[in-house]
Amino acid sequence: MTHKRYRRKTYWNQPTMGWWERLYLPEILRGLGITSWVFFRNMGKWMTGRKGALTTYYPEERRRDYARHNRGKHVLTQRPDGSPQCIACNMCATVCPAKVIEIEAAFDPDDPAHPKYPARFEIDYSRCVFCGLCVEACPEDAIRMVPEVPNLPSGQRMRMWIGKEELLTWNPQRDVAKPYPPKGAA
Ligand code: SF4
Ligand code: SF4
Repeated sequence: MTHKRYRRKTYWNQPTMGWWERLYLPEILRGLGITSWVFFRNMGKWMTGRKGALTTYYPEERRRDYARHNRGKHVLTQRPDGSPQCIACNMCATVCPAKVIEIEAAFDPDDPAHPKYPARFEIDYSRCVFCGLCVEACPEDAIRMVPEVPNLPSGQRMRMWIGKEELLTWNPQRDVAKPYPPKGAA
């Protein structure tokens, strides 16, 4: 009676190697071929001035052609009277995977429609991963992201904390997908 050799997979989609892969050297040569092809393709693009060949050397070089839906700077949207639309519910800070949003809620008894507001709203850009979850979680459309990235490189992390005042003035009207103030608003 013959027993079929059976190897348990370490993970569910672990590929099985054929004899060609088991020879090892052909696959090494194939990998070197792919690397060389990409190298010479990029070199050709660079020499002929075409796009897509090189990394941008930020911050010395700045890109201007961000994709329309690139997740860059955050903006805090404003009500027509200029106050932040944020109601300090803390949902963005709770969902943030990097825990970089800090909000200090305050109470305004003179504004019964929006009594709760953020006295302090700060984002630590040295740790933000630009995932956009804060924007998705906001129930008030009070935080958005515009395509441009913040101009914040610094050797000191504390300089990369951005506060409410700056977040309120980072060109919210430039989010053309969702113009602000909304159409028809006073
Ligand atoms: S983009 Fe992501 S990491 Fe950055 S503040 Fe929003 S939720 Fe946090
Ligand atoms: S930005 Fe939105 S989610 Fe964050 S505290 Fe303000 S209202 Fe809540």
